[in-house]
Amino acid sequence: MKIVDSAAELADGCTFVPTMGALHAGHASLFQLARSKSEFVVASIFVNPLQFENSKDLELYPRTPERDAEIARESGVTHLWMPQESEIYPGSVVKRVAGPIGEIFEGANRTGHFDGVVTVVSRLFDLLKPTQAIFGEKDFQQLVLIKKLAKESFTNLEIISAPTIRESDGLALSSRNIRLSESDRKAATVIYRALKAANESKSLESAREAMRLICSQEPLFKLDYAEIIDEENFEIATDSTSKQRAIIAGWLNGVRLIDNMQMNPSTGSAGVQ
Ligand code: AMP
Repeated sequence: MKIVDSAAELADGCTFVPTMGALHAGHASLFQLARSKSEFVVASIFVNPLQFENSKDLELYPRTPERDAEIARESGVTHLWMPQESEIYPGSVVKRVAGPIGEIFEGANRTGHFDGVVTVVSRLFDLLKPTQAIFGEKDFQQLVLIKKLAKESFTNLEIISAPTIRESDGLALSSRNIRLSESDRKAATVIYRALKAANESKSLESAREAMRLICSQEPLFKLDYAEIIDEENFEIATDSTSKQRAIIAGWLNGVRLIDNMQMNPSTGSAGVQ
């Protein structure tokens, strides 16, 4: 694996996995999927200041560069791109706007977050010119917005989604999990339990109620939203919505956690991922 600090050192046409580092098995699964599709796999590590709404969160974002290089190498990445901020934002970058889907749920809580995400991702695509790019379903709202971005501005680029990798107790792997204390880590399982309860519910209404009830039973967890949405447009799902997804976000002692699970179209209950 070659470590490069500029996209100018890389030819066009790779399968690309953008990340913010602090890599874990979820990222590794994306790299492995990329390598199964291509002999030329570029992963980037760039902690994008534009998508953090407060400087404290940016400062606290974990950084583990040596371990990241090891994980990337072991998971089939051929080129690890670690750009400087000056390459991504040389001063004259026009900020992209994510649009209405970028302003609800995660976007409502984190003003400007998705504008920052689509801006950095479009800069990364512009500089690297990949043919495929892989994103995790873990950040489902981001995935929907990136698909929209590609449809509008990068028409030759294929966006591939990858399933969420979880701990054995169901907690979705996240770089932020490092910041959870032992008791927070135990409490964090409430999210998966709530998603599974939605899964086992017989109607949208009972699915929503079950998620909210379970979350309310964990005193350490401060629920922000628990909702069932239409995967295509992030509108609130109704019985006629064909692709439904349960989404949850909340806080554990200042650490924001998000997760989601697809609902089963035939029964209105989700299939476990
Ligand atoms: P991040 O480094 O958090 O920006 O994430 C980089 C990519 O990894 C994004 O496409 C995420 O959706 C994806 N990702 C993060 N956590 C997981 C996970 N637990 N399983 C699969 N993919 C993930």
